Amino acid sequence: VKSIAVLTSGGDSQGMNAAVRAVVRSALFYGLEVYAVQRGYYGLINDDIRKMDLRSVGDIIQRGGTILQTARCPEMKTLEGQQKAAENLRKRGIDGLVVIGGDGSYQGAYKLTQQGIKTMGLPGTIDNDIPFTDVTIGFDTAVSIVVDAINKLRDTMSSHERSSIVEVMGRHCGDIALYAGLASGAEAILVPEVKFDLQKVSCRMKENFMNGKKHSIIVVAEGVGKGENIAKELHDCCGIDSRVTVLGHIQRGGTPTHNDRILASRLGDFAIRKLLEGESGKGCGIIKGELVTTDIEKIVNSKKQINMDMYQLALRLSQ
Ligand code: ATP
Repeated sequence: VKSIAVLTSGGDSQGMNAAVRAVVRSALFYGLEVYAVQRGYYGLINDDIRKMDLRSVGDIIQRGGTILQTARCPEMKTLEGQQKAAENLRKRGIDGLVVIGGDGSYQGAYKLTQQGIKTMGLPGTIDNDIPFTDVTIGFDTAVSIVVDAINKLRDTMSSHERSSIVEVMGRHCGDIALYAGLASGAEAILVPEVKFDLQKVSCRMKENFMNGKKHSIIVVAEGVGKGENIAKELHDCCGIDSRVTVLGHIQRGGTPTHNDRILASRLGDFAIRKLLEGESGKGCGIIKGELVTTDIEKIVNSKKQINMDMYQLALRLSQ
């Protein structure tokens, strides 16, 4: 590989900028030419590509969002779109591409591998739904934001002895709910990966209130359904009134935590070193502290499993 490009794609996440910075600086360190693509695959197909230098990524490590912007691009799913994208890279002599995004973005990278481009994927999503990595870039910050919000809710809920339902992001993955719920001492954590009985949840809440608990927090992953519906069901089955808070996109914003910045820096540099070693069509990740690569094909055909030890721990501690 002599020349590489980097893009961010899919939903943005905190730490994407730190990853872009790491990819650019590391590639320059190893003597490569570096380009950036604006607006993900849309920019790649529409030839929105510019050259990068050391200063192009100054003052971004602490910023949320992505300076390269991101877009959804249905055209990338067509062979014609993929050929155009590869051609725009080739005509500049770019033979490597680092894609920072979620599993959809990984599929785009895989298609470009089939067009002869050497690709590396970096897991950039708050959802933590990418297999073969313990964490994704943005997850730690998103969980911190949820924990902070729950702390605030807890203050007001305990003053009024109320129950609060907090709906969090994560798509089909319950990790944001699980980790934020565990870290904030939630009474119940509802995730799509584990079946639950709302009747049992409500009985326990009632018992806890009778035993002197002053508030209760239920964290609901969006993959389970709407917080409003859970509130209604709780009310119908046992008369518990709850206030619903939907945290929404604030979970995706703000300055990345040091964990996300360090993860992004390590993975960005790792992607470049692996490309230089001749690897391609891989997604980078971290498993038990070790940086790893896994075939993108394997990643997109697998499903992230929830950490049941963590789930059981949250259950034991939530009485
Ligand atoms: P997140 O889930 O965190 O939002 P994502 O990367 O999964 O991120 P998607 O919208 O699924 O987000 O995908 C981003 C882009 O990747 C799409 O707009 C499209 O351009 C490209 N893409 C998705 N799936 C494919 C596919 N099967 N083949 C080629 N390109 C794809």
